[in-house]
Amino acid sequence: MKKNEGEVPQYYVEHSHPEIISREIFDMVKQEFEKRKGIKSRSGSNMFSSKIVCGDCGGFYGSKVWHSNDKYRRVIWRCNHKYKNEKRCQTPIIREVQIKEKFVDVINRLIQDKTSVIADCEKIIAELRDTSTIENKELKLKAEQNVLYNSMKELVNQMAHSKNVNAEIEGKNIEINQNRELPAQALRQYENLKNQYEKNNEKLIKLENTRLEWRVKKQRTLELLDKIKNQNNLITDFDEQMWYTLVEKVIVNRDGNLNFELKNGVKF
Ligand SMILES: [Zn+2]
Repeated sequence: MKKNEGEVPQYYVEHSHPEIISREIFDMVKQEFEKRKGIKSRSGSNMFSSKIVCGDCGGFYGSKVWHSNDKYRRVIWRCNHKYKNEKRCQTPIIREVQIKEKFVDVINRLIQDKTSVIADCEKIIAELRDTSTIENKELKLKAEQNVLYNSMKELVNQMAHSKNVNAEIEGKNIEINQNRELPAQALRQYENLKNQYEKNNEKLIKLENTRLEWRVKKQRTLELLDKIKNQNNLITDFDEQMWYTLVEKVIVNRDGNLNFELKNGVKF
C-alpha cells in the first residue's frame, strides 16, 4: 500500500460519486482525515473561516483587517455577502475575541452539565451506530435496480430485432414493418424504465451520503464524549484543538448574539 501523504483517501474519490457527493460531506470526511493525520491545516484567523454563518443570509462571515498599518490594527469578521445581496444583511461585525469568549462559555456549560451531556452523547452514538435501516433500504433499491436494468436490456433487444422486413406482393417489392407498434411503444416504455432507474440512483446516492454522514457524526460525538469525560476543570482560555473538534458552526444574529452548533448537532 502506498504511504498516505495527507491526501484525501482515494476511496472517497473512487467509490462515492465525488461529483455528486455533497461538498459538506466531502469536507467533513476530509477534515476528519486531516485531523487523524494531525495536520493543522488552518491556523490563526483562518480557523474561523467557513465556521461563522450570517443569521440573515446564511452565508459565511469573512475576515477584514482594519487599520492594517497602525497600532489600531485589528481583525474583524463580517458577512461576506453584506453588500452583495439585494437586501443588505443587518447582522453586525464581530471580533474574534467575542467568538472565543462565547466558546469558553459554551465549553464550560458542557463541563458543568457533564452528566447529561454524556448521557446525550451516548444516546446519539447508539442511534447513529445502527445503520441497518439505511442499509436495508439500499438493498431493496439495488434489487429494484437490477430488475429495471434487465427490463431495459430486454426492450433494447426487442427493438433491435423488430426490423423492417422486405416482402414481395404481386411482384412488387415492398417494405413491411412486422411489428409497427413496437418501436414507439417500446421507446416510451424504455424511457419510463430509465427515469425510474435514474430516480432510484439518486435515492441510492442520498442514502450512501446519509450513511457516511452518520459515520462521521458518530465519530465526532465519540470524540466529544471523550473530551468531556476527561475534562474535569472549567477552561479559562480559548482552546484551538477543542474548537476544531467540537464546533460545527456559529450563527451570528442581528442582535450580535452567537448561536453555537456543535458537531454532534447540539446547539447552544
Ligand atoms: Zn449575510
